[in-house]
Amino acid sequence: MQTARHSLLYDAGPLYGPGSNAGDRVVVPTLQALGARGLDSGRLDLLVLSHVHLDHTGGAEAVLAQLQPQGLLGSLLPDERGRLGLASAPWRDCAAGEAWQWDGVHFSVLLPDADAAGGRSSSGNDYSCVLRIEAAARHGHSAVALLPGDIERAQERDLVARHAASPGYLKADLMLAPHHGSNTSSTSVLLQAVRPQWVVAQTGYRNRFGHPAAPVRRRYEEMQIELRNTVQCGAAHWRSDQPGSLVCERQKRPRYWRHAVFDSRGQAK
Ligand SMILES: [Zn+2]
Repeated sequence: MQTARHSLLYDAGPLYGPGSNAGDRVVVPTLQALGARGLDSGRLDLLVLSHVHLDHTGGAEAVLAQLQPQGLLGSLLPDERGRLGLASAPWRDCAAGEAWQWDGVHFSVLLPDADAAGGRSSSGNDYSCVLRIEAAARHGHSAVALLPGDIERAQERDLVARHAASPGYLKADLMLAPHHGSNTSSTSVLLQAVRPQWVVAQTGYRNRFGHPAAPVRRRYEEMQIELRNTVQCGAAHWRSDQPGSLVCERQKRPRYWRHAVFDSRGQAK
């Protein structure tokens, strides 16, 4: 996410194997190519690690070494950070209620609960750092992006219950599919509260989990929510000043060596 003068990276991609990770191979070169604000000086403002699982943190050490974020925010325990080579980086625990503003853009942590940090022994999906980002109003609309990590149905229920007194607070233009579109997430109660226009499921080609799950795809379709799978879309670009459009890199810049994943109408095959 980029604001006028700041940049934030939410999760660092997977570890592929010994000495091979998405940080080196994808994330750092992509951010440099995009010319992310703040990266002119070779630094990232904030790296958020939603939770410890390696599909989110496998690239973190490489990002840390090459982009030297000013800070790290996340839901990892000290020994987990040590194992990932992140022990020496400036760290803050992700806790609901934390908020800051960059260039008129508001960032708020919605989960996990601040109390949950004490005494827990692991930081799996349940502790995913849920981030809400709200842009300054344009034409009477403040675009919102919701990044929920890998939360499951219990956390989705909790999230909706917490904000029941402020209807519309969870409404977002763009949402990452919770837990990559797993059938354990994207519950109707969450979708009704968020009612996003766009949902992006970050998945792997022919991934063994079957993400995004067929019932989840149907749920989005029934609510007329546009689901984009990164397998077909490639990098998905979205801007808060054009919240109604989402651009897929693979569609914008097709290459002959990528097999066709869109039909002539631009629909995913
Ligand atoms: Zn994951």
